[in-house]
Amino acid sequence: MKKVYIETYGCQMNVNDTEVVFSILAKEGYIRCRDMEEADVVMANTCSVRDNAEQRIRARIGLFNSLRRKNPDLVVGILGCMAERLKEELLASGMVDVVAGPDAYRRLPALIEGAFGGSRGIDVQLSRDETYADIKPLRTDSNGVSAFISIMRGCNNVCSYCVVPYTRGAERSRDAGTIVREACECFEAGYREVTLLGQNVDSYRWKGPDGKETGFAELLAMVAGVSPLLRVRFATSNPQDISEEVIRTIAAYPNICRHIHLPVQSGSDRILEKMRRRYTRDWYLDRVRLIREVLPGCGLTTDVIAGFCSETEGDHADTLSLFEEVGFDSAFMFAYSERPGTLAARKYPDDVPPEVKTRRLEEIIALQNRKSLESYRRDIGKTFEVLVEGPSKRNPEQLCGRTGSNKMCVWTDSVHEAGDYVTVEVEDCTSATLLCRLK
Ligand code: SAM
Ligand code: SF4
Repeated sequence: MKKVYIETYGCQMNVNDTEVVFSILAKEGYIRCRDMEEADVVMANTCSVRDNAEQRIRARIGLFNSLRRKNPDLVVGILGCMAERLKEELLASGMVDVVAGPDAYRRLPALIEGAFGGSRGIDVQLSRDETYADIKPLRTDSNGVSAFISIMRGCNNVCSYCVVPYTRGAERSRDAGTIVREACECFEAGYREVTLLGQNVDSYRWKGPDGKETGFAELLAMVAGVSPLLRVRFATSNPQDISEEVIRTIAAYPNICRHIHLPVQSGSDRILEKMRRRYTRDWYLDRVRLIREVLPGCGLTTDVIAGFCSETEGDHADTLSLFEEVGFDSAFMFAYSERPGTLAARKYPDDVPPEVKTRRLEEIIALQNRKSLESYRRDIGKTFEVLVEGPSKRNPEQLCGRTGSNKMCVWTDSVHEAGDYVTVEVEDCTSATLLCRLK
């Protein structure tokens, strides 16, 4: 039995893809290995969204190759977005034996076999219909409580800064029946939370053999119907596509978590248009108002990019004022990184100097840290139902778990275990954790 070690970079979708890859390889007799020194096959499932992600992975490819000194037969593979973006360039480096894009994982066993036989292999063909719907992911990066379920692949949006549509191809939705089946299997295996994944979940649409269409709101309701004890989360929503129907479906099911990740990217209409985001600042703020009206207490988080092409101090001030106005619970904040082949790279100069991008990013981070603390402080004195994820990393006498609104809680507890629901009262907080006691 050959041993396979895989490192995963980037988004939750990649974490789930790695689980799909392990499942495909397990059927051919490969076993998962957690120590790369012992592996026969070492692979990285990669991310191309920002240049620094790619640089980190390039350093890892160097390290993987140093393992060949001890094991000359070692097969080194690159999977995912970097494989798709760089294609033959990776093989030409002489450091990689197998290159497989996100839609080529069914061919991995053959590619790896070929590499053991001495021939380097590549498959970066993107597909119009591959969703790996029939493959039961081999859950790896899991606490046994929360699982990821991909509901669609690819993206049709072509935001001007983003490489994803080029590396993951056109959008396609997965058979709704297989999604519900996977959620049932997760529940039966003891999982108590599933996160439905897609780059733009609101455009999920599946047409069954009977011609009946299922949209995202219906899919949410179907998965929530698996059991009231199964929490349902989802990511990512797009501000232009999130519908009132979806927001009202969340309100109708207590087990659909009240948390929406709604990436805004910028607070300036001029920049949003250049980014080819199909909404304005006012539209975004209006969606936030609707969410808060229909779902009081709903967690709201976002992504933002500082220093996109031609961004002025005025545009940046618009982003800061939007962050001030909305008061997100937390945010993923990035400096713009030009990605070759994207519309922005072809059309717009990357003209905000690096030190200005860094300063603007730091200003957004400082503001968001203050807002996060305000948001967490507002919860002091409140009680929440929390799903136990396991022991807290910092203190083994404490357990940790999330509120429905996706805030991490810790509390002292020697009674409960992972998978239990408990009620806690918030006593204190940091800007990222609610410090609680068991009720
Ligand atoms: N599909 C999701 C959406 O539309 O918001 C997000 C996908 S992307 C993998 C995750 C985040 O990375 C984006 O929301 C954006 O903030 C950031 N991102 C994407 N391209 C970037 C770039 N070229 N430079 C910096 N950040 C980028
Ligand atoms: Fe990229 Fe935009 Fe698609 Fe998100 S919606 S993956 S940011 S192109």
